[in-house]
Amino acid sequence: MNNFDYARAADVADAVRLKAGSADSRFIAGGTNLLDLMKYHVEQPRRLIDISRLPLNAVEETNSGGVRIGALVPNSTLAYHPVIERRYPLLSSAILAGASAQLRNMASTGGNLLQRTRCAYFYDVATPCNKRAPGTGCSAIDGLNRNHAILGTSAACIATYPSDMCVALAALDATVHVAGAQGERVIALADFHRLPGDRPDLDNTLRADELIVAIELPPQGFAAHHSYLKIRDRLSYAFALVSVAAALDLDGGRIRDVRLALGGVAHKPWRNEAAESTLRGQTPDRDAFGRAADILLHDAKAYAHNAFKIPLARRAIVRTLTQAANGTPQVQSIKSIR
Ligand code: SF4
Repeated sequence: MNNFDYARAADVADAVRLKAGSADSRFIAGGTNLLDLMKYHVEQPRRLIDISRLPLNAVEETNSGGVRIGALVPNSTLAYHPVIERRYPLLSSAILAGASAQLRNMASTGGNLLQRTRCAYFYDVATPCNKRAPGTGCSAIDGLNRNHAILGTSAACIATYPSDMCVALAALDATVHVAGAQGERVIALADFHRLPGDRPDLDNTLRADELIVAIELPPQGFAAHHSYLKIRDRLSYAFALVSVAAALDLDGGRIRDVRLALGGVAHKPWRNEAAESTLRGQTPDRDAFGRAADILLHDAKAYAHNAFKIPLARRAIVRTLTQAANGTPQVQSIKSIR
């Protein structure tokens, strides 16, 4: 690891000021991804700005009926928070599907949004990688790409985005509140993470001087009919091959509203408006779920080793929507899939 300076931010404005004044700096909170990246020499910041003591650790119900989650709320605290468990169990479930208990204790909500791909070539500085070193090429396209993306890829990068939590946040239509030198703004979670295009080095739309201060959830939490299903090589402490967050609002045996988001298949949590639209007004059965899955996966493109993800994703979508419709969500402490 290279030497670096350390500064502790006194408040949000101080954090933004420190970041704006130091080009090669990174914010650090839990450090559960950044420290790995520094040890592998993937990231070599000259300065770490410690934000871990800023007062951004509250979970509060808002006047508009939603919930505001401070960026420094640890993942475990959020997953087990009584308001989140009761009103947004899809989010609790997705968080508990990720990482390990120790990592969830350290990782912050804001940091979870900023974790970087686990593409092995990205972490191996001896190999070409457009995300790590723009213009050098992509080792995965003609290399080992079993874990890589099937949707939204580009000729420059086929990496997947690793977060479970953000797949649920995407399904719940969360928003990201950020503070920067130009003031505060709100970014829809759907617009926060990017597709790789010709700039895979840019994971998201956050500006260099901006700090995530909170995540906001709208009032609708789909508590009665939801499920988060994560398919992976081993049943704990592994990233998703495919994951699905499904949420249904049922009315008189018909689907009034639906949210469907996929993880492990793209450079960002993947939603498809046409797939969701086709389900509204329908009876919640396997035929309807299969039709939605076919629409969602219509443009899926496989590489040498990940073709299995396309039928796997179809089955996972149908299974997860079925769990949601039946009110029998996947329980993360029970490893069998019902
Ligand atoms: Fe790098 Fe993306 Fe290619 Fe992986 S898939 S080697 S992260 S450019």
